[in-house]
Amino acid sequence: MSEIDLHIHTVFSDGTYTPQQVVHLAKEIGLTAISITDHDSVKGIEEALEAGKDFGVEVVPGVEVSSDVGQDEIHILGYYLDWKRKEFLEKLRFFQKTRMERNDKLLNRLKELGMEIELSEVSRLAPKGVISRLHIARCMVRKKYVASIDEAFEEWLNPGKPAYVERVRVSPFEVIALILDAEGIPVFAHPFLSRRDDLIPRMVDAGLMGIEVYHPAHDEAIVEHYKEIARRFDLLITGGSDCHGEAKGEVLMGKIRVPASILDNLKKARSEVAQRVREV
Ligand code: AMP
Ligand code: MN
Ligand code: MN
Ligand code: MN
Repeated sequence: MSEIDLHIHTVFSDGTYTPQQVVHLAKEIGLTAISITDHDSVKGIEEALEAGKDFGVEVVPGVEVSSDVGQDEIHILGYYLDWKRKEFLEKLRFFQKTRMERNDKLLNRLKELGMEIELSEVSRLAPKGVISRLHIARCMVRKKYVASIDEAFEEWLNPGKPAYVERVRVSPFEVIALILDAEGIPVFAHPFLSRRDDLIPRMVDAGLMGIEVYHPAHDEAIVEHYKEIARRFDLLITGGSDCHGEAKGEVLMGKIRVPASILDNLKKARSEVAQRVREV
């Protein structure tokens, strides 16, 4: 059975591999298609598409955009979006700017809590990309303020914890609209991590088209649960490893099995979105 991976980060956000390295690794482990889904960035797509041609791996343009509802985070993936669209790029630039402001505040907060980390140390781990809390967590481990990345999040960086600083608040409904405007297919990422199934009907009303059923955080029972939700709401099924290269320790690409057949449905949906936009 041929397999794919539709959720991968690169050095353009909080992954450690370049897009070219991602495509190379995908080829080595026998994946037929991958998607690059960096946080708030589409900068890795061009390089991945080029490498995809060289290595014979199909590359799906993608992005992962964060949003919030109360204290819960909802991540929305956008596939096959027109990633050169000016309005969309402007919005990403705005999200990146608010991340920089958040990072400054977060590092100040850590300093008050006795953990001295300079922005330059964090930037060294993200020389090309968008800085996420994962980069900061990695610095906290390096400086031995915490024993693990998990501890950094659970004790300090998660919502409600002492070093949590909010980014600009954006709702999942706004993010869905943003992705649709860029002719992308909006998909609810790793729904089990958000534990907000109650929001799915409203997200579907806002234009949600798919749900990430296969993800390392989803065991077999969870996969079945989200397959049922996909059936009920007529949503596309997607899946991916959420690989961050070596940033979280284990390299996840190839660790979960996602059938290539789901890509055909995504492609059909893509032509429907393009058709709809043309008709408006
Ligand atoms: P941010 O985009 O700055 O909100 O940071 C969120 C990123 O941190 C996510 O995309 C994950 O890569 C990472 N992350 C969140 N929680 C954890 C965790 N418990 N362990 C490892 N990485 C995490
Ligand atoms: Mn991440
Ligand atoms: Mn995510
Ligand atoms: Mn991700």
